[in-house]
Amino acid sequence: MTTLRSRIGEVRQQFLCSVHSRSVTLEDQGPFVSFCFDDFPRSAYLAGGALLKSYGARGTYYAALGLMNTRNELGDQLRREDIDSILTDGHELGCHTFSHFSCRRVPRSLYESDVRKGREAIRKMTGVDPVNFSYPYGHVTAHLKKMIGMQMNSCRGIYAGLNTLKIDLNLLRANSLYGDIDRLPDAKALLNESLKQRGWLIFYTHDVRQNPSRFGCTLALLEGCVSWAIENGLRIATVREVLDTVQRTNMQSHATFASSR
Ligand SMILES: [Zn+2]
Repeated sequence: MTTLRSRIGEVRQQFLCSVHSRSVTLEDQGPFVSFCFDDFPRSAYLAGGALLKSYGARGTYYAALGLMNTRNELGDQLRREDIDSILTDGHELGCHTFSHFSCRRVPRSLYESDVRKGREAIRKMTGVDPVNFSYPYGHVTAHLKKMIGMQMNSCRGIYAGLNTLKIDLNLLRANSLYGDIDRLPDAKALLNESLKQRGWLIFYTHDVRQNPSRFGCTLALLEGCVSWAIENGLRIATVREVLDTVQRTNMQSHATFASSR
């Protein structure tokens, strides 16, 4: 049964990765690594954000504002003052729906309006338009990949792997960063692969604390990755920073191509 389910999952993943793609090329801009925090609890900013900042790096925080001031298994969720501090510190705010719905659990129209509501709520609160989106639970359908992809600068899932030569802006690949320091060898293998392939590695996690939930990591694991990246010349950048660089380069090469025709 498990095998059948995982096989169905694989087929679904292959299908979703192949349809409605919006590709840009990384050209020679890599390698990069981005650290993302989804529906983030306070610890992601207070511990994780402070750590990144102490290394001169920044992260991308995908916010579901409907969770503000609540508490769940990830710990205390974001507060208003965290949002302000995140921006003041130079991190990026991305959007992650308003209510943190899975598209598998609610009608399509409700999901799509919740995506708009989440983005609008951040824009109203901060004056900043969060143009990069991540799918709650990584759940996505072909229809949503097309529709949400048209509205956002990028959409990120949770399908593992590197974003290499051709990057699909409608379904960026990302890898979980969960657990304690004993997971560092696995994370270093991914970092090393990104370096070798000059690709873009995206990590995502949730809480950052001593005893993290099964969706979070310890500060030691995060620090192990950040320090490895810096020691090995792997540039740490937010999703927005990477895409600004990549899209600028793509526009330039397009212009060069057009003028040479
Ligand atoms: Zn989430």
